[in-house]
Amino acid sequence: MSRHILVVAELREGVLRQVSLEAVAAARLLAGASGTVSALLAGPPDSHGQALLAAGADRVVHTPERDDIGPAHTERALQAAAEAVGQLRPDAIVLGHTALGKDIAPRLAARLNAGQIADVIAIEPDGESFAFTRPIYAGKAFEKRMFTETPWVVTIRPNNFPPLARAGAASADVAAGEAALLATAGKPDLRTVVRGVMKRAAGKTDLAEAKVIVSGGRGVRGADGFKPLAELAEALNGAVGASRGACDAGYCDYSLQIGQTGKVVTPELYIACGISGAIQHVAGMSGSRVIVAINKDPEAPIFKIADYGIVGDLFEVVPLLTEEIRRL
Ligand code: FAD
Repeated sequence: MSRHILVVAELREGVLRQVSLEAVAAARLLAGASGTVSALLAGPPDSHGQALLAAGADRVVHTPERDDIGPAHTERALQAAAEAVGQLRPDAIVLGHTALGKDIAPRLAARLNAGQIADVIAIEPDGESFAFTRPIYAGKAFEKRMFTETPWVVTIRPNNFPPLARAGAASADVAAGEAALLATAGKPDLRTVVRGVMKRAAGKTDLAEAKVIVSGGRGVRGADGFKPLAELAEALNGAVGASRGACDAGYCDYSLQIGQTGKVVTPELYIACGISGAIQHVAGMSGSRVIVAINKDPEAPIFKIADYGIVGDLFEVVPLLTEEIRRL
């Protein structure tokens, strides 16, 4: 069965988010071999349009302005997505399970009187339709859900749907017919406007999309204790995360918190340093492909979910690891 799927692509500070390419991969699966994938992009199609086409989109529909779709402008983003849905009448809409996706997907579903399945980590064919797997109870269990009618609204968790690469498409220009300006209903009718955004200093790599995360807990004993972790993260081209214990103790900013009440991450490699492994922390990182735990207590619960465990003092182990990795 062939379907028409719309992906709402997301830019962060002018850069196309990796999860949007992953959303195109998920959309391709839902569309079927002869189906169509359209990608909604904010602003001119240029290199971002090319990247979406190279990742498997058949065409790009775009809004006039670059900041039409973004976490700081969710009302406008919702409006743009609703306009695209109104014009294209897709069978399903796929977004990243990001701050923006979490904000607009339920509102879009409500407007369309549609069902929504959030935080999807796997999609499998099931008869004429699909089963969508998502974690529940803070990652302690998984459920499979299906839609009973279209349209479907789906958000996908980052790092679960590897982007596709269509041979030759990356170098192709966005051809006429592959890109179209979304016909907007005049001036956006917004009930709130963003007057300014005050940014906190953040790491170079977005935690939700990082391939490697080096995370620190109360065992790092202070803000200075994060320095060796940051060096290891840099050697691995990764990001630094933290437990709530470390955040509550004031060792680092809450923007680094991973867990049930923090960020949910799914990197290829997660290195937990001085973290005990409380269930609320595990809820945010158990989907990591490989988990390494460094803890001086051999009974620490983190070792139960770790693929590799190092019983030792993180202040000795982490610098040694960094040295070895730099040598490679
Ligand atoms: P601790 O439990 O104190 O563990 C520190 C670990 O460091 C110990 O295992 C110790 O052996 C080890 N250590 C000490 N020194 C060293 C050293 N030199 N070298 C190596 N190891 C060392 N927590 C989260 O992380 N994220 C959440 O989102 C979250 N949400 C929560 C929501 C609710 C409603 C509640 C009630 C709690 C939540 N928590 C969350 C808190 C959680 O229960 C734990 O309290 C917290 O995760 C503990 O942080 P920690 O592992 O850093 O600290």
